[in-house]
Amino acid sequence: MPANSLPPAAPVALSAATRLAYVLRHFRLAYPGSPPVSIGYAGEQPQVEIAEASGNFFAENNPYPPAPNWREWLGRQVPFFFDNAPGHPLISYADNKIFISADIISAAFYLLSGWQEYFSNERDQHGRFPYAASVQKRYNFVTLPVVNYYFDVLKTAVEYVSNTPLRCRHWGNKQADFAAFISHDVDNLYSAWKAPAKAALQQRKFGRFGKLVWQHLTQPDAWDNLETVAAAVAQYGGRSTFFILPTHQKSQDGIPNADYRLTRQLQQRLAQLTTQGYEIGLHGSLGSSTGAGATIFGLDNKLGAEVIGCRFHYLSWEPRITPLILDVTPAKSQEKYRYDSTLGYAEHYGFRHSYCLPFYLFDFEFRLEFDFFEIPLNVMDATLHHPNYLQLPPAEIIPALAPVFAEIKRFGGVATVLWHNENFDPNNTQNGPQQFHEIMRHLQQQGAIFRTGHEIWEEFTAEPNS
Ligand SMILES: [Zn+2]
Repeated sequence: MPANSLPPAAPVALSAATRLAYVLRHFRLAYPGSPPVSIGYAGEQPQVEIAEASGNFFAENNPYPPAPNWREWLGRQVPFFFDNAPGHPLISYADNKIFISADIISAAFYLLSGWQEYFSNERDQHGRFPYAASVQKRYNFVTLPVVNYYFDVLKTAVEYVSNTPLRCRHWGNKQADFAAFISHDVDNLYSAWKAPAKAALQQRKFGRFGKLVWQHLTQPDAWDNLETVAAAVAQYGGRSTFFILPTHQKSQDGIPNADYRLTRQLQQRLAQLTTQGYEIGLHGSLGSSTGAGATIFGLDNKLGAEVIGCRFHYLSWEPRITPLILDVTPAKSQEKYRYDSTLGYAEHYGFRHSYCLPFYLFDFEFRLEFDFFEIPLNVMDATLHHPNYLQLPPAEIIPALAPVFAEIKRFGGVATVLWHNENFDPNNTQNGPQQFHEIMRHLQQQGAIFRTGHEIWEEFTAEPNS
């Protein structure tokens, strides 16, 4: 077995009814107030009938379905998995009934549930499912929220049968076409001086080295900037979420967690941000996503504030374990994580589950959805410019991201952006404060409303806003 691979997961034998219930729940969350039209496979004689075309796939443990068939929908070329009738029109109408010839229920279930990650044995050096092993990479559709396109097909069918127009979700009292969730993982507060000091030492510029050390000892570090970060977001009328690491200890493989400690003074600063409307979430330390050596609990006590959201350091995520950890409510603690926002590919911006709204991950053990919900991550600063990821020149960032944000706007979704506090350092001209402001201006011009993760959770789980 290669070093970065897992034993295969056992098959779980999922019934069509289970898949249908999971997918339709999300469809109704995407189109609040959709009329009670019956949707299903032939046996149930529904008003909207969908071809059953997954064969034995969901009884086995193959991570990948057969290649998709490409069809045009809403002006885009969309991959349809489990489509056995490429020559047939996607939708046909007869009497008061509609037939959809591609199995969009199975295809939506496959992508949304995270099937490929659960059953794939591939992991990278940080234990993550690699983008290189994904269907999004293989068929080149990571920037298209394909499940939202399947739902639009379903919406068209439901509208026809019910003679009622459906409207996708809107945000902020229905005023905004989409929401933007801006967040900052706080890995470091005191290390801005280190790289330049190291460089000075290597170049034997001892005078400069001494100056940098002196500055470090006498002046605040450029990354000790939480209030500056908050002010940058406030310029756009919004608030953001800071994910805080509760531990400064290194992981078992020696990778650093925080370079800071949760001192009383830092706790007071975080409390101050909370009173101004910013949210404090947990940045799950290394190892905590698999329960190895570190726990995700215990931040509440230190902050004295309710913590309901989580994102794991290094975007660590083991699909067979992490959701179970997040879903547990320990008897002695009040803490229960309501949402996570880890799931984006570090290697590429876009849609890891091919969906642009919050959603519930699927529990393959108990065959139903988890209680917490996922606000999928679309853009991380490091993805845009990093030796291991992309190296986009600054001028290419907005042209690359604008189509992704346009998809989110089209379907009333949430644009989730991660910009580390250390990348508000004015010395960073690649993925630094200037690029952050360009993204914020773009989102604002497109009509996004800025929301913390907590606010998104509240609004999304409130009564339907039809
Ligand atoms: Zn981190």
